[in-house]
Amino acid sequence: MNPIPRVGLGTDVHPIAAGRECWLVGLYWDGVDGCDGHSDGDVAAHALCDALLSAAGLGDLGTVFGTGDPRWAGAHGAVLLAHVRSLVEDAGWRLGNASVQVIGNSPRIGPRRAEAQEVLSAAAGGPVAVSGTTTDGLGLTGRGEGIAAIASALLVAVATRT
Ligand code: MG
Repeated sequence: MNPIPRVGLGTDVHPIAAGRECWLVGLYWDGVDGCDGHSDGDVAAHALCDALLSAAGLGDLGTVFGTGDPRWAGAHGAVLLAHVRSLVEDAGWRLGNASVQVIGNSPRIGPRRAEAQEVLSAAAGGPVAVSGTTTDGLGLTGRGEGIAAIASALLVAVATRT
């Protein structure tokens, strides 16, 4: 067993598409324009996947899911995250904790933070903290062109019997 915990980092950005369903932080947001993408466009879930994969030394989202693989077309972020969790646990790790921050104008994360944390923690197999911020009107997120997310994860080794 490796006693040293491992950290990982993940980021993601998707363009907002008018009229597209919005899935973010594992939740559906009614009446909000969502993000375009091969899957559901949930940048927060994708950033978390990359953070977990990175910490475990398992590559990144593109290597694991591949945009050419029809199994994952339209897949929800929480489904991808649960699959990543299984890969991470198969490699001998479990999630100590993770944190994800959404950067964008809309939707506002705060009112649904508890719900989002519940969904993402269940998928990731450990506590996930969710936060939101804006860029005060600057850049692609500030202009409402897209949503970004950044995540970190700490993995701890699973104790094995000898
Ligand atoms: Mg993505």
